Parts: sequence; structure tokens; C-alpha cells
Amino acid sequence: NIRVRFAPSPTGPLHIGGVRTALFNYLFAKKHRGAFVLRIEDTDQNRYVDGAEQYIVEALEWCGIPFDEGPDKEGGFGPYRQSERKHLYRRYAEELVERGKAYYAFDTTEKLDFHRKDHEAKGKTFIYNWHNRLKLDNSLSMMPEEVQTRLRLGEDYVIRFLTPPDEKLQLRDRIRGTIEIDTNILDDKVLFKSDGMPTYHLANIVDDHLMEITHVIRGEEWLPSLALHQQLYDAFEWKSPEFAHLPLIMKPVGKGKLSKRDGEKGGFPVFPLSWNDSIGYREAGYFPEAVINFLALLGWNPGTEQELFGLDELIDLFSLERVHKSGARFDPDKTKWYNQHYLQQKTNTELAHSFLPIVRAKNIVDSKVTTDYLESVISLIKERATFVSDFWELGDYFFVAPTNYNEKAARKQWREDTPEIMNQLVSVLEKTNDFTTEPLEAIVKTWISEQNLSFGKVMPPLRLVLVGDMKGPHIFDIMGLIGKKETIARIRRAIS
Ligand code: GLU
Repeated sequence: NIRVRFAPSPTGPLHIGGVRTALFNYLFAKKHRGAFVLRIEDTDQNRYVDGAEQYIVEALEWCGIPFDEGPDKEGGFGPYRQSERKHLYRRYAEELVERGKAYYAFDTTEKLDFHRKDHEAKGKTFIYNWHNRLKLDNSLSMMPEEVQTRLRLGEDYVIRFLTPPDEKLQLRDRIRGTIEIDTNILDDKVLFKSDGMPTYHLANIVDDHLMEITHVIRGEEWLPSLALHQQLYDAFEWKSPEFAHLPLIMKPVGKGKLSKRDGEKGGFPVFPLSWNDSIGYREAGYFPEAVINFLALLGWNPGTEQELFGLDELIDLFSLERVHKSGARFDPDKTKWYNQHYLQQKTNTELAHSFLPIVRAKNIVDSKVTTDYLESVISLIKERATFVSDFWELGDYFFVAPTNYNEKAARKQWREDTPEIMNQLVSVLEKTNDFTTEPLEAIVKTWISEQNLSFGKVMPPLRLVLVGDMKGPHIFDIMGLIGKKETIARIRRAIS
């Protein structure tokens, strides 16, 4: 029975790296009809950010990848917040001490700082390990009675993992294969702190064990912790889960991984956590489908040329074997391309609903803010839009008459005889009762040929006066939509 978990620390908004981890866990779980667990790793009270947990839950919801078990969604393995499990961890740390796999260390912060500086002065780095642990203030370097006394006196201590020297660890990762690590390069990591809280390492593996997690799928930045985690499983004589470390997400250009500072270029979060955050994907106008689709391809591919996937299809096709180990470059243009694609899939009614607040904010007369009108506008311009917010830029003239005309176009299209031609056109239009696309087109075209005018003399200036620019859909569609009165008014204004 496959069980995976997404285990974020509630320290801020979720960035796309985190969401990708959640997504791959979700896909793997669903593919194998297993459980996708959300566990909140909030043992580090100093880094705790208010609201971040709720945020994580909402972000997963927005993305459409809900968890099966987690905070407020009991699944028999709760609680799912580490802060609510804190009573659990001490006995595991102590068990390791009893098994001779960990030890008490009483070194004060000042003493450790001193060692650190002393080493630095000699051009070395201080590492708490086999090399010096016997010279430091811990239960390995003192008599058992002294340890007991100091514990009884309530001295501050931590529990450190006792890394065995001279061992070659064989670490297995589903994506990277076997990784060999020499234990002599490892330090004795703190597992348990004097404030009664476990560190990430201890809490993480104890919970993965107790929650019966079968596969740990997480970002590459956790690969350095694998050696310790594997040793902890061995020390407890627990069966360890399988590990899969997902490749880093790289900046669009240049070296290094995508960071929050890449903001607009894709480093931003799903949505802001608080008012003073930057915008997120949601605010930028991305659809969850687009986000899911581009995230899925950051580090994974189906082995075919296919680029567009719905969630169900992803579940079907996903496998850890097809996750690669090299960094995945984030491509903001591709991200937009996905959004454009998914925008075209939306119904005009859905899009009108999202466009409405934008139009409202422009103080447009009520008659132009009806669902029918918005839908008609959208049907004419959506082909060119990537985001709903593009609709205004692409179709503002459907709501307000142009106040100025593209100068370059005007110089080219507006000739001496244009006002007269436009004037005649107005008379033709005034007599036209069926002001819809086809009849309009027929009438205007007949008039052009009867008068021996050329299209070039009529159509470009007409577009200019109606739109203000040379852009836009079929001109008779525009006229039909803005209507007879408005069309004539715009032409008149231009020639007056
Ligand atoms: N709490 C860690 C994080 O913030 C979990 C890492 C892991 O998945 O083991 O990502």
C-alpha cells in the first residue's frame, strides 16, 4: 500500500519548487491508488510564519491536488502537525542513546563558537565528528555517572547522532541510483534539542516511519540529508522508505536555481501569503491547469513529444523512472504558452465571469457590462489572449470610443478624400437596419464597388476611427457588436 507525503515547513508562501514536489507526490500516490499525506513540519518555532499552514492547504486546493490525510483530515496516522506530536520524539532520541547510536552533548554555544573561530583562524572548518568528539563536552568523553548527574541537574544538552567512522554507505535513490558516501566526511548531527524539540532529521524520519510512508519524494536540496536519514533507519532497525530526489529547478537563463528573487520570471509563489508579498501565479492570471501542466514537465517527461496533459492523464503516465536528475530549466514563455492554451479551452461564460471585475473597475456603462456583451467581446478577441487581463488591452474599444488614433497609422491611412468617403459611409450605414455582421458586410461592399472606391480607401480608415489602431478582429464583427449608434458616432467624431 503506497503512502507518500508532502512535508512543508510553514515558513512562508509556497513557491513552485514546493508545489512541484507536492504534485509529483500526488501523481505517484494516485497512480498507485495510494495515499497522499500532508504533514506540517513546524518544529522550528523561530521560523514559523502565521497563516502559512492555511496557505499551504489553500494552495494545494487551488492547484487541484488535494491531500487524502493531513491536518483536519484524519486518516488514522495523525496528528499531522509535528508541533502536536512533540511528546513523541524524546523517547526515540533516548532509544538511540541506549542503542549506542547517539549521545548527549553538553557543549555550550559559547564553547562551540570558540572552537569554530579557533579553527577558522587556522584556515580550517570546525566539524563535530569522529575527529574531535572525544575532546568535546559529551557523554562519549565522560563517565556515565557524570552524564547522569548533569542530566539530573538539568543542564542544557542536545542529543547527537554518533556517526560510525570508516564506513562506506550505499545510498539508494530511485532517480540517481546508488550513491556512495564515506562516513568520515559526515558530522554528528543534532537530533534533539534542549528545548525538548526534535530537529528536522529526527522528527522527519520518526514520522515517516510512524505514518508508514513508503516513498519519500522531495527536492534535491534534501539529498545531503539522505546519509543521516538512511543511518537513522538502520539504527532503529526500521525498514526505510524508498527515496527519490527531484532535480533542481533552474533559472530561465544563466546558472543557478530559480529563486524568489526571480519573481516575475517564475520564482513567485502560487499566490501571496500576505498583503506585502509580491504577486503569485494566481494573481498574474494563471489557470491552475496551466501551472500543473508546466510543473509536471519540470523534471519529468512522458518519453513522447506530448506537452499538454490533463491531471488524469498525468496520473496515468507518471513514473519515477521518467524523472531525470539534471536540473530542469524554468521557461517563462512556455508557462505563458500553456496559459494561452488553457484560456482557449474555457467557455466564454467562464471567461466573462473573470473579466467582469476588470471591466467594472473601469466605470463602464451598465449596458456594456452584461454577460451577453462580455461573452461576445471575448469570443472575438480571446484567440490572441494569454491572460484574462489581456482582454482589456485587446478590446478596450468595445467599451470606450478611442480618444486618440495611432499616429503612424493615421498618417498612412487618412487621406485628403477620407472625410468625404466616411461621410458617405455614414449615410449608407444610417439606412442599414440589420446591423449585424453579414448584412453589414454585404451592404458596405456593394456600396464600395458601386462607388468605384477601393477597399484600401475605406476599410483601414474605418478601422482606425472605430478602434483607434489597426488591430482587432473582423471589422464588421466590431461594428455589429458596438452597434449602429456607436459606429456612426465614432465616424462622425473623427471627421468633425
Ligand atoms: N520539512 C522539509 C521541507 O520543508 C521536508 C523535507 C522532506 O521532504 O524530507 O521541505
